[in-house]
Amino acid sequence: MAIERIIDTSLHADDSAEEVIEVTLRPTSFADYTGQERLKKNLKLAIDAAKQRSEPIDHVLLYGPPGLGKTTMASVIAHEMGTNIRVTSGPAIERAGDLASILTNLNDGDILFIDEIHRLGRTVEEVLYSAMEDFKLDIMIGKGPAARSVRLDLPKFTVIGATTRTGVLSAPLRDRFGLIHRLEFYTPAEITRIIIRAANILDSTIHPEAAELLSTRARLTPRIANRLLKRVRDYADVNGDGIIDVPTTKAALLLLEIDESGLDPGDRNLLISMIDNYGSNPVGLNTIAALTGDEATTIEDFYEPYLLQIGFIERTPRGRRVTAKGYKHVGKTSSEIQEKLI
Ligand code: ADP
Repeated sequence: MAIERIIDTSLHADDSAEEVIEVTLRPTSFADYTGQERLKKNLKLAIDAAKQRSEPIDHVLLYGPPGLGKTTMASVIAHEMGTNIRVTSGPAIERAGDLASILTNLNDGDILFIDEIHRLGRTVEEVLYSAMEDFKLDIMIGKGPAARSVRLDLPKFTVIGATTRTGVLSAPLRDRFGLIHRLEFYTPAEITRIIIRAANILDSTIHPEAAELLSTRARLTPRIANRLLKRVRDYADVNGDGIIDVPTTKAALLLLEIDESGLDPGDRNLLISMIDNYGSNPVGLNTIAALTGDEATTIEDFYEPYLLQIGFIERTPRGRRVTAKGYKHVGKTSSEIQEKLI
């Protein structure tokens, strides 16, 4: 990604302090996990049934935009099942051998969480099919004419896969999951609750109106809500008495250049580039990527879901286009924000 953005929903891999806080803010049980009620209801049922039969829960696929709580939900499931969780990701499992060593080290009932599961290589994916289906591992031993295939028994484990898009997942892999669920954007009221809970954990005082204001700027996404809260808390600590009230929140948001819809300069640049070059005509994904200098996947995973959700852009068979609402937003706020920033 070209620039580090406050609204970036990915974890900053090199920012370990940030990651530690993310971990402490992560809910560990269903009771702590705000929102996603339908998902929780379905998972609770599956967990209760599995527990009654003393079996592991069926494989679960969670999909949806980054930062909505897929990883968190995987650890909640492990906690509720009372099992261990092993966390890895598609790009980290490079060879079939890597997967074999992970699988053979699992115990009965363990959960294997694979983030970005759509990025698994084809050969690794094929090994995973039979492992998920009948808990067997077929591996080749030796090379050339002496090579032979060996079938190993695996413990009865559960895969929880997370992906931003199911469309890119191969059909055979998708079919191995008994439970497939989409995580939805949160409501502002849910985000407010998440912010107040996080402020409590961080030992910060936040006024309810400030939490409400912040919730409208967090792209309906818990990870961004937590990140914004931390930046506003910094601002309150340095420029005030540490109490997060509405004026402090507004001032911090202005400094962060986050507008009233939660858009940052990167989003506004995307909308303005589309409008300047194509008006309200549809634009292809790769063209948008060329206009903003981002990767097409970054646009698809990070910018687009929220802009679609709030109706600033829409998808047409011929590409994405800026809606009247999106037009109005940048037309109105770009000049206002410029004025305020001078
Ligand atoms: P994803 O795996 O979908 O990218 P994560 O599970 O890593 O998202 O969630 C990002 C952060 O947001 C977590 O560290 C956690 O602090 C917070 N979070 C996510 N979902 C919730 C929730 N339902 N309630 C409270 N906090 C949440």
